[in-house]
Amino acid sequence: MHPRLPLLLLAAMMLTPASAVAADIPGLVRQEDRLAAIAWRLTTGSAHWCPQTVPQPGWILGDQRRFDKRERPAAKLAFATGGEGPFIAAIAPGSPADHAGLARGTGIAAIDGQPIPTLGDGPTVRIDAVQVMLAAREPAAPLIVTDDGGRRYALAPSPGCASGFRVERSGPQAAANGKLVRVTLRLAASVVADDELAAVVAHELAHNILRHPSELAGQRSVARVRATELEADRLSVWLLADAGYDPRAAIRFWERHEKPLIRAATHPPRRERIATIAAEIEAMAAARAADPAAGPPLVAALAPLE
Ligand SMILES: [Zn+2]
Repeated sequence: MHPRLPLLLLAAMMLTPASAVAADIPGLVRQEDRLAAIAWRLTTGSAHWCPQTVPQPGWILGDQRRFDKRERPAAKLAFATGGEGPFIAAIAPGSPADHAGLARGTGIAAIDGQPIPTLGDGPTVRIDAVQVMLAAREPAAPLIVTDDGGRRYALAPSPGCASGFRVERSGPQAAANGKLVRVTLRLAASVVADDELAAVVAHELAHNILRHPSELAGQRSVARVRATELEADRLSVWLLADAGYDPRAAIRFWERHEKPLIRAATHPPRRERIATIAAEIEAMAAARAADPAAGPPLVAALAPLE
């Protein structure tokens, strides 16, 4: 046996883009499972003080179009889906989608008999369309999901803070755009403890709840960007606590990640973030000692929605 053959084989595999890229699809399935469970807990646990709630079924949606054509056979296998349309990529245990009998891989054809509109051929337009359909409904109103085989599922969604969630294979490590929280596969896989990943997701969800993306779209004051980072850190404490996570997980995350996620002048130093989070944990405990139903002051200070 030629001793160098395995190395050559490995090199050949690494030069095959399709197999190399598709190799991370099972990892994507695992991390979207974690994200679905975390997002479900965070959005529904804080529904009583979130300024805007939507029906949260407890799922993360996927679409074949998110994958290169060469990757689609591997994606279909990993997500256990057979159709060509949007499908359920992950379901939070104990969520309404779980109770309705929906499962990973179920193709979604219609909501309450309304077909999912096809607006363009972008990788996520059909997922976004389902989100828009859901957001237009009463947060707790029952609905019927029809799968791509015509089977109907009765779903009783829970009201939850308004946001979608997705694991991406490229782009910024964690981001919020007002409607969606995204974390990369690399970041999610690197954060082993669920409560620490929840801290990252809670920070991004906090940006959406506090409407930072739309506020910052119009101006780029470095001071204000830094302030929004600390505000998101502070609100993440309340989100974590109300989801049943230890809010100190946010401190553990920052202590563990010595190299900052984002090395930019716009982002506060790690030590300042940890001190801010610790102070907010104490403030929350004091507020809740006086009034167990106390909500976060940052949300109370928000201007009312039009
Ligand atoms: Zn941030």
